[in-house]
Amino acid sequence: MIHNGIDFSTYFKNYPDESGFFGKYGGAYIAPELQKAMVEITEAYFTICKSRKFIDELRRIRREFQGRPTPISHLERLSNKLGNVQLYVKREDLNHSGAHKLNHCMGEALLAKYMGKKKVIAETGAGQHGVALATAAAYFGLECDIYMGTVDIKKQAPNVARMKILGANVVEVTHGLQTLKEAVDAAFDAYAKEYHDAIYCIGSVLGPHPFPMMVRDFQHVVGEEAREQFLHMTGELPDTIVACVGGGSNAAGFFSGFLNDPVEIIGVEPLGRGPKLGDHAASLKYGTEGIMHGFNSIMLKDENGEPAPVYSVASGLDYPSSGPEHAFLQEIGRVQYDVVDDDATIDAFFELSRMEGIIPAIESAHAVAYGMKLARERSHGSVLINLSGRGDKDMDYVIEHYGIR
Ligand SMILES: *Cc1c(COP(=O)(O)O)cnc(C)c1O
Repeated sequence: MIHNGIDFSTYFKNYPDESGFFGKYGGAYIAPELQKAMVEITEAYFTICKSRKFIDELRRIRREFQGRPTPISHLERLSNKLGNVQLYVKREDLNHSGAHKLNHCMGEALLAKYMGKKKVIAETGAGQHGVALATAAAYFGLECDIYMGTVDIKKQAPNVARMKILGANVVEVTHGLQTLKEAVDAAFDAYAKEYHDAIYCIGSVLGPHPFPMMVRDFQHVVGEEAREQFLHMTGELPDTIVACVGGGSNAAGFFSGFLNDPVEIIGVEPLGRGPKLGDHAASLKYGTEGIMHGFNSIMLKDENGEPAPVYSVASGLDYPSSGPEHAFLQEIGRVQYDVVDDDATIDAFFELSRMEGIIPAIESAHAVAYGMKLARERSHGSVLINLSGRGDKDMDYVIEHYGIR
């Protein structure tokens, strides 16, 4: 399919380009010593990811350890309640450890093993990425250092416990605001010193090249499976596909299976409490071009041009930018990005639980809310939603702040 002059049948060969750019977005804006490490990872990735051995081993792990393929479920009761549009969900909540994040963590850790590294390093905010990476590190017998701010360690006690049980070393970051930004800096500093023995594992389609590409490729399995399963189930492609966008990894992998098809694609950002800066994390909708954390993308900035404070009821979505590929897909108009606020998200959280017996992660509930909106507005068609994770981690928070709706 050709869209705006871009041929999507050869898209993956051309995007990103050799320097890691999707149009003007992406790249690697980092210190020279880290540049060397990124080149090493890029070269290793391009060689290793094509080897039969690596591909076969990753396939086997996906099947035997992760429990893939995850199914697609038809939301029959919810669809009937809302009208004639048929809603479906791709069940990443059933991927081992309860979300899509393990898809790229297993890929990154397997790459570390093939590169002869002994350790994986990452930062985490809400702790979901830390838990997924600790899971992968345990599987491969790699050391695992997770950098986390003091404030986040206190807030996310269950995830800190999970990481420790899985054998990871949680490194407390005590300076500055003691949250994600400081943890990113500390993890990068550690990596610059340790890159001979360690590999940095980013938690989304973010950071310097090659990470946005690599993480998308490792998440491609979601879109590939979903396309085949949906065709098998219904004999057709979905009319519309929807995914939530924080950094953008679950959306990037899911969308990548359908970019070359005549399918409407919608990414959903968190509108939080409303459109005022500080009340949301809808970076693609309200942001402007800028460089942060080593890449060029669209971001929310404060009056000094620094990353702005952001908010969402879903801690996995509150990041002031999104992956460079999303900025590009928005610019060329192949993907539409829209927003859903906290309130509609919590409604969707309860609706999906009550009507279908599936408790979604609050992140994923943003995409469900958008699918429900389309089902109310439209007279016919099918919508396939990526259910990026399960809601066990969110139940206490929802009950405490919203009660039972
Ligand atoms: C982390 C997380 C997200 C957001 O991350 P992306 O990189 O945008 O996919 C979405 N859903 C769940 C369940 C998560 O844990």
